[in-house]
Amino acid sequence: MNVVAEPSYTEGGALLLDGNRLRDLTVGHLRARIEAAGSPAICLATVLVGDDAPSRVYVNMKHRKATEAGIISRSVELPNSATQQEVEQAVAGLVTDSNVHGILVQLPLPDHLDAEPVLAMLPPEKDIDGLTDRSLGRLVRGLPGHAPCTPLGVMRLIDSYGISTSGQRAIVVGRSTLVGLPQMLLLSRRGADATTTLAHSRTSDLMSVCREADIIVAAAGQAGMITADHVRPGATVIDVGISRSEDGIVGDVRFDEVQSVAGAITPMPGGTGPMTIACLLENTVAAAVMAGVSC
Ligand code: NDP
Repeated sequence: MNVVAEPSYTEGGALLLDGNRLRDLTVGHLRARIEAAGSPAICLATVLVGDDAPSRVYVNMKHRKATEAGIISRSVELPNSATQQEVEQAVAGLVTDSNVHGILVQLPLPDHLDAEPVLAMLPPEKDIDGLTDRSLGRLVRGLPGHAPCTPLGVMRLIDSYGISTSGQRAIVVGRSTLVGLPQMLLLSRRGADATTTLAHSRTSDLMSVCREADIIVAAAGQAGMITADHVRPGATVIDVGISRSEDGIVGDVRFDEVQSVAGAITPMPGGTGPMTIACLLENTVAAAVMAGVSC
């Protein structure tokens, strides 16, 4: 789905890539689409283990936005003391339930649990977070499947604000399988066609590499690491990193200084986070369609 957002600008003149607004537009489009199809039952199930406060906030937000979109959401909650077997049993029940179209296991799991075997249980068609080996393998091979929501949300922001990636030089800072690596794949794949550099903690002279880029995606989790000096005038700067400080949530990008150099920039919060949820809902609807729901 491509949702065109009306532009607004920062004080420094950069195009503001407003994730809250684009998420709300996306939710509205999904709702209209589901209603137009006669409101078929489309179900997102989440699995939350333990009492990690940020995880609970994220899961609650996902349910709230799912409901707004007309998606049924089912919440499975297990205590911090849950065993590996109990978690796997809960996930197995959702995997075999044909009424459930998408499953999200909220990470991180408590320390005594191993997330890998739990994620491995998810079939690619229900893996709406796109994080399992099979989903990532499909992404690498260009096969149909669900792409991870955060990098997909970044692509939606870029596309919806009319920023071209074709032939552009992009840099992704961070190489995790959750964000950086799939982001590099999405920017580079046929159709997006950016020439992408994947940077990490061993990259030498990161500032020079960033200054060559038309698009910077900062996903290192290092508060304020991208300064105005990292940014070529007019470049697009997308902030994925989240650090928690006394002043609240802080991104990898020093918004105050970068916004007067960049051509387009995401706020933090209010940029990539809301789009992660929007893409989770998009993937859920796509999962339902794959399962035979007309929508
Ligand atoms: P990881 O810790 O798994 O990966 C961080 C990556 O950043 C690593 O590849 C690391 O390099 C690299 N890195 C760390 N420090 C530097 C540095 N100084 N210079 C260059 N590269 C560096 O984190 P995730 O990928 O899981 O998450 C990244 C950030 O995104 C976090 O802050 C997380 O909270 C946030 N996030 C935000 C979401 C959103 O919706 N906005 C969703 C998901 C995550 P190396 O591999 O060499 O160690």
